[in-house]
Amino acid sequence: MFVCIFSCSEDEEKEFVKITDAYLTVEEIGTEYGYLYVSANVTGNPEQVWAKIFYPSLGYSIKYQLFQAETNRFHRHISINRNNFPDGIIGCEITVAKITYLTNEVYLEWQTLVSNIQLNISDRVILANNSSCSTLEIKVFDNNQNELSNIEYQIYDNDEQIYIQNNQFKTNISGFHNLYVKFENVISNEKVVDAINPNYEFEIPVIFHIVNLGEPIGNGTNLTQSKVHNLLTQLNNGFSNSFGSTNPYAKDMGIVFRLAQLDQNNIPLSEIGINRINGNSYDDGSPQFPNSVDIASDGKLGPNEIWKLAGDHYWNPRKYLNILIFPGQYSESYSDTGYVFESYPLNGIPTRPDDCDCNPDSDFFQMCFIHSNGTSVDYKTLIHEVGHAFSLLHVFSTDNCNSSDYCPDTYSYDRNTSDWSPCPDNLTGELHDNYMDYSGVRNTFSKNQRERIRHVMKYGIWLSELKYSTK
Ligand SMILES: [Zn+2]
Repeated sequence: MFVCIFSCSEDEEKEFVKITDAYLTVEEIGTEYGYLYVSANVTGNPEQVWAKIFYPSLGYSIKYQLFQAETNRFHRHISINRNNFPDGIIGCEITVAKITYLTNEVYLEWQTLVSNIQLNISDRVILANNSSCSTLEIKVFDNNQNELSNIEYQIYDNDEQIYIQNNQFKTNISGFHNLYVKFENVISNEKVVDAINPNYEFEIPVIFHIVNLGEPIGNGTNLTQSKVHNLLTQLNNGFSNSFGSTNPYAKDMGIVFRLAQLDQNNIPLSEIGINRINGNSYDDGSPQFPNSVDIASDGKLGPNEIWKLAGDHYWNPRKYLNILIFPGQYSESYSDTGYVFESYPLNGIPTRPDDCDCNPDSDFFQMCFIHSNGTSVDYKTLIHEVGHAFSLLHVFSTDNCNSSDYCPDTYSYDRNTSDWSPCPDNLTGELHDNYMDYSGVRNTFSKNQRERIRHVMKYGIWLSELKYSTK
């Protein structure tokens, strides 16, 4: 049996207050704000423990009461700012009752004030396979535009902080990644990386603008839904190599066109993929060509009127492929090839700056103008014009083969010569089978044409965004 022969009351314990250990650390340091941390092991259950932070060289100090973290341990995170805590050696004295204890000293060194951060990327487009990467080049500058090193900035992807190695950005999430770098309240410029699935079949929402002359739906120029749906089917047949081409270079373009489900305000369309436009108000009555070939109220629209109408009615080309079906006295169908970003050029296609703040209203809108004879549309014309919209050029030349479609696997020839003699840019010979010709069976898009289309799906203005539209 044990007998307690020696017991201490709590009051008596207090007389044995003792500091067994204490330390000071710089917990966090930035350019203007940071944290110190003080921890002290103190036995004897004292009521108050104090830490005095002092600068031996500057001769001043600031006192803080520590908080009890657990039995025998007192601590405090001390928030500091650069004005009160300048660079220099600081020490800390712990005081309990009349006992003092000097901790270690630390050197406080604030980071240089960052004035701006510049972000650049090596690749604007990568594959969403967690292996293909874009290297980030990050430069941090102070107020004097001197570059700073060892700044612990954070990198953000679509507003979420990410952790990457060697500044190599990889992802398995397809779509746009808006990258920027942040240090305290300084944020860099933004750069967009487009991560695409290499096997992706691009799905393109289409809006058919059916220009009519005010007839009821299904009458005259106001084409029925089923005619429009049929056009879409034929367009998909053309782009998926489903018209029986025997050309060994024939290829599926990997694009699926679908009828847009939502209008520009995200309201479900009453007729999916269709926007009906009464063109009568554009029938300006001018009898003069080329200003207009229209004759007042003759039920036919001239080219200038059609351009005006298209400019008023196109839908956001970042979200829709615009196809305008128009009854016109002037029967030219037309589509331009759009633009690509200048760092990613494509032969024969004009460019715009990489950071182009392009606006369809002031720059260009993408529209495929497809002439109808009043009641029907030539679907091969539609395929041809959509081919232009996706960067394809005519396979033939009209200038002694100086111009080219930049696709060696298409049959190219000079349409200005009497015998349509072949051009040197001409690998092989299925004669006149290409959709981008004016003659022949026109049932083929080729492998090289697919490469051009895939280039503009990555780097084309509007098209690089259109492929992600959910309209
Ligand atoms: Zn053409």
